[in-house]
Amino acid sequence: MTQETFNVLIAAWVALALLLAPIQLVIVPAYGRHRRANWGPEIGNRLGWVIMELVSPIAFLAPLAAGMVAGAYAAPVYVFALMWVAHYANRSLVYPLAMRTSVKTIPVAIVASAILFNAVNGWSNGYYLASPWADYGAEWFSDPRFFAGLALFLIGAAINIDADRRLMRLRRGTGHKDYVVPRGGLFRYVSCPNHLGEIIEWSGFALACWNLPAAAFAVWTAANLGPRAWAHHRWYQRKFPDYPPNRKGLIPFVL
Ligand code: NDP
Repeated sequence: MTQETFNVLIAAWVALALLLAPIQLVIVPAYGRHRRANWGPEIGNRLGWVIMELVSPIAFLAPLAAGMVAGAYAAPVYVFALMWVAHYANRSLVYPLAMRTSVKTIPVAIVASAILFNAVNGWSNGYYLASPWADYGAEWFSDPRFFAGLALFLIGAAINIDADRRLMRLRRGTGHKDYVVPRGGLFRYVSCPNHLGEIIEWSGFALACWNLPAAAFAVWTAANLGPRAWAHHRWYQRKFPDYPPNRKGLIPFVL
């Protein structure tokens, strides 16, 4: 594939994200607290998360592994691969095993759409990094975009993991299905610090890589999680009359 064709495909992929973002404000994807019975057949929640999230590191690593036959990559590419795989080792294995979700299910339609999302984003990022267009010399390590992006990625990951862990702890001893008002950490300021952290994380990755598919993935993440955080926030306000009135949805003090 030529770089021009690849860029056109990624631009179309980004356009789809921008089209779906406002739609997701109205039609909230039916998993977790927004699960609805009319979304077709379902499978166990934990199994669904493992299947759909494992797709991403496999799709990312496949083109890189195929390209290894031709020779080694520039050193920054290995750092980007480590960032991707570390995130997805948590998301596809540690996170689903830790979730207190034993009585819950997830629609197959959600799992299928997440598989598509993860396959395209994983493959496009791995494909670019394995291609000759990924022109990173060792001097990239001293480029401000690299270390600012890496710092953002690590800060976002820390926020995301901390928030997800706090949520998991809320269900101790409740039979794994009730919801509680989360408190502590960044929950003092927003309803969805896990989503905020994830958006920061992939924005940092895009800055560190400075390429089109990484930017596309950051846009997709914000397009998915912005509307989801807003839906969660309104849900909390409806469900808990004493919900902290100053808490925002996604961005502290702002939104
Ligand atoms: P949620 O915040 O909806 O749920 C996270 C976990 O915590 C679930 O197991 C949920 O249970 C439980 N939980 C949430 N709130 C409460 C509460 N108030 N009381 C008790 N338990 C609670 O996160 P998502 O499911 O939307 O996302 C999970 C992770 O995946 C996040 O880190 C998110 O950033 C990431 N993600 C990334 C995407 C991307 O585009 N890159 C897309 C989607 C998710 P239950 O399932 O029963 O609601």
